Amino acid sequence: MGLINQIILLQEVDNKLFEIKKLLGDLPSKVEELTENEDNVKLSLENKENELKETSVSINSNETLVESTSEKINSLKDKLIDGSISTNKEYDAMMETIDFEKKLLSEKENELIELMSKKEELENEIEVDTSALDGIIIELNSKKDALNTKMEEVAEEKNALESERQTVAKNIDQDTMSKYSEIYEARKGLVAVEILDGSCGGCGAMVPPQLVNEAISQNIVYCGNCSRFLYKTEN
Ligand SMILES: [Zn+2]
Repeated sequence: MGLINQIILLQEVDNKLFEIKKLLGDLPSKVEELTENEDNVKLSLENKENELKETSVSINSNETLVESTSEKINSLKDKLIDGSISTNKEYDAMMETIDFEKKLLSEKENELIELMSKKEELENEIEVDTSALDGIIIELNSKKDALNTKMEEVAEEKNALESERQTVAKNIDQDTMSKYSEIYEARKGLVAVEILDGSCGGCGAMVPPQLVNEAISQNIVYCGNCSRFLYKTEN
């Protein structure tokens, strides 16, 4: 079989493969997109959950500190009235200590309020993300199922075509092959066209008689206008 016939055969196989690809539609890209989405949300959730854990730990230690500081203030206040203080100097020192502890207490209480609201914010965000993730997973699974069903339907034909393509491609040299791919891409699958009434069957441009003869001899001939491979089956 001449090279031009191999090219025609390859074009037929590629067009059938293209139809199969079209049948799968946007499912492959949708699955890819949703998978990426799932990964991103999972990562963000993981980060927020870690932050939530750290915030909870901080809240616990802050609460402990608030409690112990309050107790300390109370016991200091008790000393003010239980008679254990006898001089003004001692009294002033005690008041100063109490003020210091009160200031610390109020700082820790403010921190605690901030931590609590941060915790609440994180919990809300996690809830939103979790339900978004559920939605993504449901959609992803349904697209995956649909894709798998379609893939199964076309698997046999697709495999047969792919192996046929390999066999055909073996008979085509590298240069012609890359030219073929270029034209395939540019001309949307119409790579090799017949010469009809001395014109290119692809673009309609005139084909010089010498090239027509070459095509009849099954030499590789290109259209001077659209660059497609030309062939001629009859005289
Ligand atoms: Zn042409």
